[in-house]
Amino acid sequence: MTRPTAKYRYQEILWGKEGQARVRAGRVGIFGVGGTGAAHAQILARAGVGHLRLVDRDVVDVLDLHRTQLYDERDAAELIPKAEAAARRIADINGDVRAEAVVAFANADNISRLADGLDVLVDGSDNYRLRFLLNDVAVKAGVPLVYQGAEGVLGAVMAVVPGAGPCLRCLLAPPAALDDAGSCARTGVSPATVAATAALGAALTFALLRGEGAAVAGRLSRVVDPGYVTTVDVKRGDDCPACRRREFEFLDAVVAAYVSRCCGGDAFEVFGGGAAFELEEVAERLSRGRVVKRTGDLLFVNDVDVSAVIFRDGRALVYGARDAAQARAIYDGLLKGQ
Ligand SMILES: [Zn+2]
Repeated sequence: MTRPTAKYRYQEILWGKEGQARVRAGRVGIFGVGGTGAAHAQILARAGVGHLRLVDRDVVDVLDLHRTQLYDERDAAELIPKAEAAARRIADINGDVRAEAVVAFANADNISRLADGLDVLVDGSDNYRLRFLLNDVAVKAGVPLVYQGAEGVLGAVMAVVPGAGPCLRCLLAPPAALDDAGSCARTGVSPATVAATAALGAALTFALLRGEGAAVAGRLSRVVDPGYVTTVDVKRGDDCPACRRREFEFLDAVVAAYVSRCCGGDAFEVFGGGAAFELEEVAERLSRGRVVKRTGDLLFVNDVDVSAVIFRDGRALVYGARDAAQARAIYDGLLKGQ
């Protein structure tokens, strides 16, 4: 049996017993456990952060494996939801940590509940809608957020500490393509950049848990592969819609139907805009004439003309479609009337 004091001794030397106790007591939500989110989660898990809530909407894809820590080829072959694969792996890494898997599409309807009771929110997202939604929740509720982003050979992190520095909207204007998660498919992504970005982000999370938020608020670090890291101080915007005017347009938005290309794989994510599915009924109907397998809250359709994963929350991942319109047509063909 490992003595807890021995297990974290090298962190106690760095942070003191009090600092380490705060890290152990920490409750952190990681929203998106793909590249940066999974690497960040692994660092926190090994350090003994007490409770990790792992929120992700996706399944492990073989195209994720070059940059995602925590997953392996079996997870990809079985299309295991990332949140579940991450929680299982973390349980093996450090039994001190409570790893809570939440397979869900985080959106304006559920984000406040998903963020409830957490000390730090971590942005592991692959799209700007979720990123700005997290910023709205953080600023409104007064909970710190660690922003992380990695694309191509560039990575960036910044701590948003409400009341002590700028927020994400002081730094970035929302782009037109809020739901686009296809940057990996266009520009590629460096696994070294992803790991370096997550490491810088995890350092911010540790500082926030230790109560040192004021010292790290608004410090934007950028990493470039190969080569260097720069850090600058970001100023608060004088007329920031979120942290000055307290207008939370992402949090107040209506959750609408959408189709987006997934970052990690050859799939489109489709949400029809309706209510959650009764998976049992969908499975029963589709199994008349198609090859259907059900595992927990997922339904796999694998047939000659269609390959899809259907989630209880009303979404589906559609594989092999040539464009968004065809993905939506396949979704409607499978799920119309649900
Ligand atoms: Zn702001």
